[in-house]
Amino acid sequence: MVTDSNGVIIWVNDAFTRITGYTSEEAIGNKASLLKSGYHDSIFYKILWDTITSGEVWSGVMTNRRKDGSYYKELMSIAPLKTEEGSVTRYIAMKKDVRDFHNLGDAERQLSTEFDRVVPLMTELNDVNTALEQAKSETNAMLNATSEAIMLLSIDDRMLWLNKAFGRFFSLITQDVTDDFFHNLKSHWDRVFEDSSKIMHIVNSATESQVSEYREAVSQIWPQKRELEVYSAPVKDANEKYLGQLFVFRDVTRERAVERMKSEFVSLVSHEFRTPLTSICGYTEIMLEGDVGEFTDEQTELLKTIQRNANNLTEIIGSLLVVSRLEAGAIKLNLSVIEIHEIIDNTVELLRPQIEAKKLKLKVSIHPDLPPVEGDSQWINQIILNLLSNAYKYTHSGGTIDISANEEDNFLFIRITDSGIGMSTDEQEKLFTKFFRAENPETIKAGGTGLGLWISRSLVEMHGGEIMVMSQPGKGSTFTIKLPIKNR
Ligand code: ADP
Repeated sequence: MVTDSNGVIIWVNDAFTRITGYTSEEAIGNKASLLKSGYHDSIFYKILWDTITSGEVWSGVMTNRRKDGSYYKELMSIAPLKTEEGSVTRYIAMKKDVRDFHNLGDAERQLSTEFDRVVPLMTELNDVNTALEQAKSETNAMLNATSEAIMLLSIDDRMLWLNKAFGRFFSLITQDVTDDFFHNLKSHWDRVFEDSSKIMHIVNSATESQVSEYREAVSQIWPQKRELEVYSAPVKDANEKYLGQLFVFRDVTRERAVERMKSEFVSLVSHEFRTPLTSICGYTEIMLEGDVGEFTDEQTELLKTIQRNANNLTEIIGSLLVVSRLEAGAIKLNLSVIEIHEIIDNTVELLRPQIEAKKLKLKVSIHPDLPPVEGDSQWINQIILNLLSNAYKYTHSGGTIDISANEEDNFLFIRITDSGIGMSTDEQEKLFTKFFRAENPETIKAGGTGLGLWISRSLVEMHGGEIMVMSQPGKGSTFTIKLPIKNR
């Protein structure tokens, strides 16, 4: 039997149950005095306790009472288990029913041999246990000190562990709800979240899938308005066994406010730039058309440079405005059934003079009866224009550009393939991030903002679609837009 320093039983073996009749569940949590028979006086117990509390081993014969009330005599040794610093944290008692032996001497010798073997082992175990408990309480302290709310959820939806911030965020007493089913608190979540079905869905799909890590945004409305980012990841033990799902709720209210301020600022500045730019472009145009007198060739060249740069600036500002509107969620799709071949034809016609001037071979193959697709024609136009002008910009003179559109598995696929400079895998990974531009001389010479693909991806995703790239440096690239087909 092992007890804590107050004599409360924390572990017993099977032989204990055989001798006393108490199962380990019945014994654990009780004081060892559970077995007291009333046979010994208080001095007997005082000597026992004085011995073991002073760090010594006590041995002797004791009469105890079984669970069924019957008495038995046992030979017992009790040793304190000390930590490295010398403090007593546990007691171990080994007992033998004296009826199992012909004489007490045999019992004593056997007990003493076994005791000498077991006590050092138990001391070592105790040290390991103390170290583990220490590590556990350090981890708990750390997780409690973080500003994120953390929850560990079991496969069957039980809240196994919650940190202090979790209680603070959602106005809960964590001890009271630990081990409850997450869904049992539905009415609480209804009050806490703007859309509680979203959080229920996040929790369900995370525990069901058991694999993926992901992030989602949710809005909290009570007891405080907060914008939260939920991060979820599976928790596995050393043998890769799934233990549950970890959820971390991060307060991103301030971050989001700063992001909004930033895009409002960009949008404001872009608007302010537009008017002066319009006049620069307009007046340059008038001057180049000769409406205000003749210019020398040199002056005309300078004016053309001004015009080219002013046009670039107009384009950059246009892209920045679209980005800030997309980020602010200010672009709403104006959906209708769109004629994809018409959109492609229009874009091709728009760029044809440049494509021909660069001596690029252009091939357009659109399947004759494409199913109707729902979309916002203005933005689908923009996406195709972005991809086609990239194909034009990043392909050497004499190269090829192929555009195709066809249906596969209830999706519309539009592919734009060029035989241009291509890009490395590394570059492909960063391709759809804002302001990314490959760092090669051809790209730098072609000029651009690095916003076109970010915008294109956002717009395609708003349509419920996907944009993909396949590319090889020096060989060329294929950009694919995949759009869902609706109302067949
Ligand atoms: P921009 O073309 O204005 O720089 P994009 O967002 O459209 O911005 O493209 C980002 C970057 O991706 C480009 O700068 C270029 O490095 C690369 N890229 C895009 N399209 C192609 C292409 N068809 N072939 C090779 N590189 C490309």
